[in-house]
Amino acid sequence: MTIDVDGESAQTVDESFKKVCQAPSLENARDFLAGLPGNPEFKVFFDTEKPVKAIVVLGVDDDLLSTTNQYFVKNNIIAVKTGIDLLCKIVGISSAILIVPQHLEQVAKSSGAIIKTVDSEYPSAQPELITRHILETYEDGQSKSKSGIAFFSAEAVCAIGAAYNTGKLPLEKTVTFVSKDGKKRLVSVPIGTPLQDILNEFNETLNDGDRVIYGGPMKGISVFSTEYPVQPDTDIIIIQDKGQITERNDTACINCGECVRVCPANIQINLLIRFLEAGQYEEAADLYDLYSCIECGFCSYVCESRIPIFQHIRLAKHTLDSMKAAEDTNA
Ligand code: SF4
Ligand code: SF4
Repeated sequence: MTIDVDGESAQTVDESFKKVCQAPSLENARDFLAGLPGNPEFKVFFDTEKPVKAIVVLGVDDDLLSTTNQYFVKNNIIAVKTGIDLLCKIVGISSAILIVPQHLEQVAKSSGAIIKTVDSEYPSAQPELITRHILETYEDGQSKSKSGIAFFSAEAVCAIGAAYNTGKLPLEKTVTFVSKDGKKRLVSVPIGTPLQDILNEFNETLNDGDRVIYGGPMKGISVFSTEYPVQPDTDIIIIQDKGQITERNDTACINCGECVRVCPANIQINLLIRFLEAGQYEEAADLYDLYSCIECGFCSYVCESRIPIFQHIRLAKHTLDSMKAAEDTNA
């Protein structure tokens, strides 16, 4: 699928990048590659209090239905290898860890990385669970959560490799598109492409009451404009027909405990939700482990009272983070 983007500004950035890409470094990676497909994040390497000791590449997808990162491992393992090798070189780490579902273990071996597998059950592929359950005993039993891990998606490492090898910044984002009939297809579009162009490509029509979700059924957000652009981290777009959407009128918590039973972070959600609903976010953080939440969305999914717990949690974290940023600025 070919859709034009703003060629002029892309070219200017490309010209500047070309000058530095002969000598890949963390600094020029941070300055030029942060918005590439897969949204590679380099800030973590500049945290002097928590030096990065391991690079983890996710050849798995972190929400249901998405197949974007598995696609890169399955169909483009050489590009994954190129990206990993380059990343390790500029970071000065001898090898990376590639996380894949069991069925991709064999093909993943060609990457030269250390291979670890996760089972396909949600939410096994969440970075926090990988850190806790898969990497905890890696390297002499030292916990990586204490020594620093940098996570990259398989798509991001492919983009990093392509950028340095060609001198051009790749803009094509691979997205899993799920249409109203439930059909799942992969599409490659430039970052910034409006939703309407993708709908046109698949002859999909939106009617009143239909829902568009960017980011997966468990963790995604609804968007309300067909102009909404594909972002560097948009792995999946789902279109839901109005008839498939369950009405959600939330009622008071009945203390059934279902959310607590499914929570992978072992949070007392039945108590936490009371503080969140009252807007008492600091108490929620101090007393009920708000920040242990890995944002898997399971609690909202199972809640008998249809309380949007996950959305309350996101709002609380966002509010507290904004307050902290404002305090730091005024300090
Ligand atoms: S989203 Fe809900 S179930 Fe998932 S970790 Fe957070 S509180 Fe627990
Ligand atoms: S699942 Fe919903 S109703 Fe049940 S305890 Fe948790 S918040 Fe309350």
